[in-house]
Amino acid sequence: MPSHTEESAVTVLGLGPMGRALAGAFLDAGLRTTVWNRTPGKEPELVKRGAVAAPTPEEAVAASGLTVVCVLNYDAVDAITRRDAVAGALNGRTVANLTADTPGRARETAAWATGHGIGYLDGAIMTPATTIGTPDGVFLYSGPERLYLDHRPVLDALNGSHTHLGTEIGQAAAYDIALLDIFWTAMTGYAHALAVANAEGITAKELAPFAKGIGSILPPIFEQLADDADSGNFSGEDNPITSAASSMAHIVHTSEAHGIDAGVMRAAEGLARRAIGQGHGADGFLRVTEILARHRLPGTDTRQRRR
Ligand code: NDP
Repeated sequence: MPSHTEESAVTVLGLGPMGRALAGAFLDAGLRTTVWNRTPGKEPELVKRGAVAAPTPEEAVAASGLTVVCVLNYDAVDAITRRDAVAGALNGRTVANLTADTPGRARETAAWATGHGIGYLDGAIMTPATTIGTPDGVFLYSGPERLYLDHRPVLDALNGSHTHLGTEIGQAAAYDIALLDIFWTAMTGYAHALAVANAEGITAKELAPFAKGIGSILPPIFEQLADDADSGNFSGEDNPITSAASSMAHIVHTSEAHGIDAGVMRAAEGLARRAIGQGHGADGFLRVTEILARHRLPGTDTRQRRR
């Protein structure tokens, strides 16, 4: 079992931009912080600030009751942790894995950890490395509530907001994926919009104030439509899907007139036209959510139920 000292200490495995930010915030909060990275050379700055650099991951995890892992993906997590020496050192201790990957990988990693007597919390960081240690950082967790409460005092040293989403271990990764789905489709739309605007002689800087305006329309829409989406009410009273499809077609035509690939918008218009073809032309755009959910590929319904 970890000693009392270990409980007020933390280990960080992975010193990419995010791992370094996490370790820096723990140091700023006065915790005894042990760090390790696969490739040496990323720890000197942290050591200057008081971190202990461990020569091996097994020595790193043995130094603390809680190990925070933050590397590229779960293949990297496995490469570090699934060696006998590391798994043995982690036995009786806790891992909070803040690495991003899929809900399936989170569940699989949790099963491995349980089989090796390791307490396991999965987590996701929803804000950039620059927010760590500030009130703007957003951290999501899933896994055993007792473990979360036990380690919350250490995690609180990161500042920001911390939310435990429940005991179903895949939930943090599931939220992460859903939120990144919004982010990357929006960024793809922005990149495409800049290409089309540029072809029409408009610079990114000229578009920016209006792009901000369009962006600010979205948050209230997310709130207003959440109840509708959950209850299956896809009212299109103010903005029917026929109107959305027409607007999308204009974007496709303008892009292609400039020789710009419109594949992403064609896919979106295709979804809208599918809904219209199924008799939902008077509904709102979110009807496509129900159509996407209804038309899963055979044998792929892996819906999770929260416990
Ligand atoms: P990266 O995602 O680039 O991860 C770099 C880290 O992963 C380094 O420590 C690197 O070690 C390690 N790594 C990669 N492959 C392996 C491997 N096979 N074995 C061991 N270690 C490996 O950098 P970040 O720090 O930015 O991100 C870490 C995690 O945080 C990611 O999952 C990311 O999605 C998430 N995240 C990052 C944000 C950010 O702003 N940076 C924001 C929100 C989430 P080495 O130095 O030896 O290559």
